[in-house]
Formats: sequence, structure tokens, C-alpha cells
Amino acid sequence: MPVPFADLQLQYQTIKGEIDGAIAAVIRDNAFIRGPYVDAFEREFAGMAEVKHCVSCANGTDALYLAMAALKVAPGDEVITTAHSWISTSAMITHAGASVVFADTDDTTFTIDPAAIEAAVTPRTVGIIPVHLYGQPADMDAIMAIARKHRLWVIEDCAQAHLARYKGQQIGTFGQAATYSFYPGKNLGAMGDAGAVVTNDSALAEHMTMLARHGGLAKHQHHIEGVNSRLDGMQAAILSAKLPHLPGWTRARQDAAKLYDAGLNQIEDVVVPAVDAGRDHVYHLYTIQHPRRDALAAHLNAGGVQTAINYPTALPFLAAYSRLNARPEQFPNAHRAQGRILSLPMFAEITPEQQNEVIDLVRKF
Ligand SMILES: *Cc1c(COP(=O)(O)O)cnc(C)c1O
Repeated sequence: MPVPFADLQLQYQTIKGEIDGAIAAVIRDNAFIRGPYVDAFEREFAGMAEVKHCVSCANGTDALYLAMAALKVAPGDEVITTAHSWISTSAMITHAGASVVFADTDDTTFTIDPAAIEAAVTPRTVGIIPVHLYGQPADMDAIMAIARKHRLWVIEDCAQAHLARYKGQQIGTFGQAATYSFYPGKNLGAMGDAGAVVTNDSALAEHMTMLARHGGLAKHQHHIEGVNSRLDGMQAAILSAKLPHLPGWTRARQDAAKLYDAGLNQIEDVVVPAVDAGRDHVYHLYTIQHPRRDALAAHLNAGGVQTAINYPTALPFLAAYSRLNARPEQFPNAHRAQGRILSLPMFAEITPEQQNEVIDLVRKF
């Protein structure tokens, strides 16, 4: 039996009544843009994320832009982020008007290395964007200590890490603001694009709300020049229907990760995901490392198992950053990882039979 990388259709089938009802209600109420379904989701998500304010927006990329624009980054400012992430994280630094400064990851968790952040700080540095990559929290104690020492803001990119915890505290509650993506494949996914930025700072929340809605809170009162980054009612209602299931889905991912760990960690050359003490990983992705990654991927794919590489090129080495002339020695961990990482099928509904098929194929290889 083929094993898909993720199975969104299966998840829909398990809660079809709730989703169909939510969509029908939005159509019945003509609540397509903003409106009660969006307000309700913002309240509910703020509760689940343990923050005071949730500002919904069109996607997780815009969320990063809104947070940085509200923190008033300016040309000449430098923002430090990880060399290993999806490009939204770094691209929005540029679009918000600042300069991207990459820091390498540590050598085990794929998250930003606090020592590399410290080494990258200059008098122009204004902020840090750690990414809780694959669902594992970055080292927030060390990152917040650096931020306090140099008076920098921190925006946590939580796009892959809904409900993850660091030493018992939910991620997204450490910095000035935190951004979420509800892209369909994320741990909490809409049926289209959706995102949010959360904060405990009321003034920042109001500013981000204005920015996302054409610069005003009430119709025709534009206090600033904003953008159009609204969450639509349909996506909000779908997300509200899914939100109560998120804790259970998260536990299911963690259980699936345990099964993979047990089956894979004795196999020669396979490195299973390392989780640092005090970090609760929520396994948006279950990413192993292997010295012959491409051959292993081909073997799995030929056996009907879908895999992915997240991501094949570390950010500093993408064509988009050729201006930085990055050398592998500057980002040794991110550079080494890009040739070794392989993400295996992972979703809340994956069965032990499917996982054992994956494990058997890896063992045969
Ligand atoms: C998915 C993702 C984003 C962007 O979210 P979109 O909703 O697709 O715009 C940003 N950062 C990280 C780390 C992501 O995984």
C-alpha cells in the first residue's frame, strides 16, 4: 500500500459534518470577509495559544511582515534569523525594509544556534526571528537572554509549531510577537491560505490590526497606509471547527514520532530527530538524516512511500541571496543538513501499519 506524505482528505472525512456545517453557516450569513466567524476564531486561537491578542491575516508570510512593520523596522536595521527555514522568514525581513543577517543552526536540533546569533549582533541589529523548525522549539532561554542584553525584539516564527512548549511554556509567548501559518498542511490547517500574528502587547496588536486592514479599524478611517491581509470568514469558520481537535492531533503526531524513533534509531546511518531537554516537539515534520539521502529517498519513493526535503537548499545559498556570497564554512550545520535531511510521512491519522511499512523499507535500504 502506498504511504502518502500527508493525507488532508482523510482528516476532512473524520470531521466532515463539522467542516461542512461551518462552511454552510458562513454562506448563509454572508460573512465572507471579517465578521463574526473571524472574531470568534481570533478569540479562540488566542485562548489556545495562551496570549492576549490574535490578529488574523491572510497567511503566515504576511504575519511576519505585519509584525515587523508594526515594530517599525527601517532601512539600515539588521534582523538576525536562521539559515535553515522556509524563505518567508527571511524574505519578509527584506520586504519590511531591513537587512537579513543569517545565523547557523546548532548541530543537532535544526534550530538557530544562540552562539551564532551572539556572533552576528552588530550595533545595527534590531531583532531576532527564531523559527521553531519542524515543530521543535528553538532555545528560547538563550535567545531571550541575548535579546535582553542587546535590547532586541524577538518575533517567534511558529508556523510549524502550534502548541509546542519550551520548559513548559507555550512557544509564541516569549517574544514581542509570534506568527502562525494555517496553510493546509500545517499542524492546524485551513482549506486555503490563512495566518495570524499573536502578542500580549495591546498597542502592538492594534497597530498590526490596522496594518492588515487598509490602515484603519473602522471603515473609511485610515490612520496609516496599510495592506489588505484579511482572513476570510470561510477559513476562520473552518479553523474554528478544527481548533478543538488540535491537542489530540498533536498527541497523535507525537505518538507517531515515538513509533518512528523506536523503529529507526537502531538502523545504521539513520539519524532520528534529536529533541533537546525541556523542548516538546510537535512534529509538523519528522525529518531524519542519512549520508546517502537521495538514494534512500529514491528507494522509498519506488516502494510507494512519499517523502519530502525541507529544504533542499539552506536559505543563504538560494539564488535569492546571491548578494550575500555565502560560503558553506559560514553556515556549516545548515549546509551539511541540506544534503542529509529527509522528511518521512507524518500526519495525525497515520497508522502504525503505514509507519511500519516506512520503517521496513528504510531497514531494507
Ligand atoms: C509555512 C511557513 C511560513 C509561511 O506561511 P504561509 O502561510 O505559507 O505564508 C513561514 N515560516 C515558516 C517556517 C513556515 O513553515
